[in-house]
Amino acid sequence: MNFKLLALILLTLTFIYKLFMSLRERKSFANPIPANVSDIYDETTYAKWRAYSAEKSKWEIVSTACSYILTFVLLITNAYAGFARLFNSDVYVQALSVVLLSVITDGVFGAVFGYIDAMIVEQKYGFNRTTIKTFIADQIKNVIISFIIMTGITFLLAALHMWLKDYLALAFALAMFVFVMLVSFLFPFFSKIFNKFTPLEDGELKDKLCALLTKNGYSVRKIQVMDASRRSSKSNAYFTGFGKTKTIVLYDTLVSSSTPDEICAVFAHEMGHGLHRDTLKNQILSFINIAVIALCAFFTVKYPAIYVDFGFDAVNYGFALLLVATIEMEIIAPLFSLFTSWRSRKAEYRADARAVSEGYGKELISALKKLAKENFAHLAPDELIVKLTYSHPTLSQRITAIEAGMKVESGREPDSEA
Ligand SMILES: [Zn+2]
Repeated sequence: MNFKLLALILLTLTFIYKLFMSLRERKSFANPIPANVSDIYDETTYAKWRAYSAEKSKWEIVSTACSYILTFVLLITNAYAGFARLFNSDVYVQALSVVLLSVITDGVFGAVFGYIDAMIVEQKYGFNRTTIKTFIADQIKNVIISFIIMTGITFLLAALHMWLKDYLALAFALAMFVFVMLVSFLFPFFSKIFNKFTPLEDGELKDKLCALLTKNGYSVRKIQVMDASRRSSKSNAYFTGFGKTKTIVLYDTLVSSSTPDEICAVFAHEMGHGLHRDTLKNQILSFINIAVIALCAFFTVKYPAIYVDFGFDAVNYGFALLLVATIEMEIIAPLFSLFTSWRSRKAEYRADARAVSEGYGKELISALKKLAKENFAHLAPDELIVKLTYSHPTLSQRITAIEAGMKVESGREPDSEA
């Protein structure tokens, strides 16, 4: 079997699939808007949304095509092996040279399309707040972080394989597991590299949020406001922290655009995830994913013939990492997401139901509508794309479910309607 031919065929098939999905998505921009979300955009805004989405999707197709061509050329010309030959034959130096070439091409590619997306498209529609200075700093930070992470994993893979041989899969799975735990543990520190956090001021919002969480058995460690408005006008909120002690992070854009009750509704929803152990279940799933990646890494380094097909003299651990990462991102993750996105949509309905039972149904609807409006959401997405890839039900589906839930709740407590 020629591994290079196999890789090029797989690459082409995934490209065709992505193109098919993008074209389906483009068609869906003309879908009629469901009645329960028809008040989100007025005529002008909706026209602007369509123009914005069409432009976004155009650039997405261009970027997908360029990425396909670039990868295809790099692979068919054995560019990685050619670049590695410029350096000495030490195993680690060889691996590092492949990582270096990959980080450079990815960095340039990411900077070009990142620039088009943030500074041209988002700018044109008034979402971008990134200055050119922040943009360049972000790109440099991204390249440095990805170089450090990729080098770390590559050296780990090399050391483990040379030391453990066939027990590699198990050891690599364990190491990846530790790594993922470490990343989620260090996430608050990483986000500090990119954003500033300030404590939420005392007042109605703070009191209401604390009351809601403590009532449900959580303790609030800190409530912080993140300066998301430095980059974008889009808004969000999330929990961090292990167990029942939580740090709450609110985007400053959310605080300035929502009422305290709407923000509480969003957190009643987040609590719903906690009560159903959704995060834990997701973690278990991501460990299964890690096991599959480790197995994939095991087979990738087991066959030196793979590397010969791509022009190397021996196993190159940097190239092995690229292969594993590409197989993960292009094949394993999309297949996994068929299952996980379906599960996640069910979890979202359950979390919404929690907000309804806390008495925040109405506020959740208005909060979701505001979020959809600010994030310029697609109100009538393609049904197949929703089924295959959406982690959340569409806004219209969620509102239908929340309203049905509110009816049941009000039937349960006849006095509360009076
Ligand atoms: Zn959710």
